[in-house]
Amino acid sequence: MTDSYGGIVIDIVFLGTGGSIPTAGRNHPSIVVRHSGWNLMLDCGEDTQRQFEMAGLGQNKKMCILISHMHGDHVLGLGGLLLRFSLLGRIKPLEIYGPPELIPYVKMNQATINLGTTFKTTVYGIKSGILFNVDNLQIRAFEVDHRGLAFGYELTYQRPTGEFNPEEAKKIGVPKGPLWGKLADGKSVKLVNGTEISPDDVTSPKPQPLKIVYTGDTRPCDTLREAANGANVLISEAMYSSEHSDLAEERGHMTAASAAQVAKSSRVGMLVVTHYSPRYEIGQSILDEAQAIFPNTILASDMMRMKLNADGKTMVSNHRTG
Ligand SMILES: [Zn+2]
Ligand SMILES: [Zn+2]
Repeated sequence: MTDSYGGIVIDIVFLGTGGSIPTAGRNHPSIVVRHSGWNLMLDCGEDTQRQFEMAGLGQNKKMCILISHMHGDHVLGLGGLLLRFSLLGRIKPLEIYGPPELIPYVKMNQATINLGTTFKTTVYGIKSGILFNVDNLQIRAFEVDHRGLAFGYELTYQRPTGEFNPEEAKKIGVPKGPLWGKLADGKSVKLVNGTEISPDDVTSPKPQPLKIVYTGDTRPCDTLREAANGANVLISEAMYSSEHSDLAEERGHMTAASAAQVAKSSRVGMLVVTHYSPRYEIGQSILDEAQAIFPNTILASDMMRMKLNADGKTMVSNHRTG
């Protein structure tokens, strides 16, 4: 689970990994990034509500939804999710971010819930840039190259301080107690004698930030390469294999090879390919093509979970291997 320092920081749950048309084993796209008690959902394709329930993500958690673009496979599940949350009596507010067309779309969906929603929903029509920050996790949207306005999302966690060093704190006269907690959380404190102590005095240097990038649907583009630069995990659509690169170009998608090229040129830690066409069945050809260029690639599957440690290490579970 998400936790503060030291252990698992971010937990990624792949609810749906199909592209365009859901199949028996793969739902429409939706991913939930769990951090510090939050569920941050990336896209909400058809029937996301059932996947959400099966994954046990908790219908009354702090939550926001980030929509990449207004194509059906990325938004058709919003109405169902709002309905489910209302029937189950969610009370925490919900924020939804995405292209401005999302505002009337969510209103229309809310109008289908005949008893009304039981919680406040706020929808934001966004532009590229930093959207918000939850518990040291910053969410930034960047415009990508699909058909119509489409965004990818960059999620960056920066621990506010390094490791707290109790010996050093004792040495400079900070008494054990609440002041230690404040310093460990990156806040300055004042001792009774008036001395100001900065967290830098009693903590090791800050670790490297952790970065997860989600492409949404896109052709390869510079804004994506820039966002992906040095990411621990790049979650990329890979709708086609190279034999259909003409379709990828025409319809605004990636091939598995182009996703792997982005991963390689942006020096990411791991590439997760998702949203591939049902024509590739279990996706082996998509995976093979990507791995030939970027070996540290895995194929996303529904209900796969990935945990990201504070030191950037990843652990994958529920992973379909064949
Ligand atoms: Zn799509
Ligand atoms: Zn699309």
